[in-house]
Amino acid sequence: MAIIASNFKTNHTRKSTAAFIEEVNTFLKEKNITNEVLVFPTATSLDSFNTVSNLTVGAQNAYATQKGSFTGEIGTEQLDEFNIKTILIGHSERRHILGESQEEIAKKFNFYKELGYTIVYCIGEPLEVKEQGIEQTLEYIYEQFVGIDTNYENLILAYEPVWAIGTGVTATNDDIKAVHSAIKEKISKPLLYGGSVKVANVHEICSLDGVDGALIGTASWLVEDFKQIIENTK
Ligand code: 13P
Repeated sequence: MAIIASNFKTNHTRKSTAAFIEEVNTFLKEKNITNEVLVFPTATSLDSFNTVSNLTVGAQNAYATQKGSFTGEIGTEQLDEFNIKTILIGHSERRHILGESQEEIAKKFNFYKELGYTIVYCIGEPLEVKEQGIEQTLEYIYEQFVGIDTNYENLILAYEPVWAIGTGVTATNDDIKAVHSAIKEKISKPLLYGGSVKVANVHEICSLDGVDGALIGTASWLVEDFKQIIENTK
């Protein structure tokens, strides 16, 4: 049994999100699939979805606040409206494109931890670090745990090497195993792999030692592909 998560990023509308979730929900129910499935739609597509217990809808991002003056952000007042209790924190795109610092990420982590949210916490190194070798890679990744309580009970980790995200370049099995086993030695939490996971490689990746599932962007946005991904890892 794997944890399979879809990160919509800036894709899908309210209408297509609702249709996607309904279809995945029916699929899980009818096929009796026990995988834990998570879907992270855009903030504008969040809603009170009626789903089976192993399908959870989460937020891609939110600010460390209940409410207030944080233009463009959402807080728990908005998430509570839809009973959203799962959040993605530390994603590479928020670190590298939106400029979130480790300090801000840790603040966000602690805020949502205090509220008992399930946190999918992302880590991963850029290409120039990977090219320096495994020791530098692990050192870089450990820096991404500064300020993070790795014993938090509702924590799921996702290793997403930056160079593998949206590039079609998947990390090799050896790359994945090296990082996953090192993290697993220190932190005993579910650990997903993300970065160009697709229908054709998800089974093999999820079968590797230390891989508890996958966090998928591009290849999960078509519902037929996402269902196939779930089917391939059940
Ligand atoms: P891709 O699957 O498009 O590489 O994206 C991975 C990712 O960033 C999921 O959060």
